[in-house]
Amino acid sequence: MTTFYCPNCWREVSEQATICPHCHTDISERVSQADYTDKLIAALRHKEPMTPVRAAWILGERREQKAVPALTKIARKAKDPFLVESAVEALGKIGGTTASDTVRAATHHSSLRVRVKARDILRDLASKGLLRADQ
Ligand SMILES: [Zn+2]
Repeated sequence: MTTFYCPNCWREVSEQATICPHCHTDISERVSQADYTDKLIAALRHKEPMTPVRAAWILGERREQKAVPALTKIARKAKDPFLVESAVEALGKIGGTTASDTVRAATHHSSLRVRVKARDILRDLASKGLLRADQ
């Protein structure tokens, strides 16, 4: 079963919904997959603080390589530790050199919750053999 998300607020909506019950946006027209990814990446800069957190989570679940630069920027520069944590988590799921370098850098973040999350992700990646032994 596919989970549907409102392309405005990125909360879960039912497949049949035509109006988002959360933000009341008309969602009767389904967006294409390419637009969907772009909208998710754009939502990382949304003003409502939980929207970027949700967008980062969905991008991670979808393993969106295209989102790595935007997520990396957030992980390195954003001030909200919740958002940084979700970006780091998403990068851990997407994987690759840039993503894992960013997760590694996040183990030195000023926020404890980000450091703990980054260490958990690295441990998880290492246990799956996804990190090089010399790093
Ligand atoms: Zn909505």
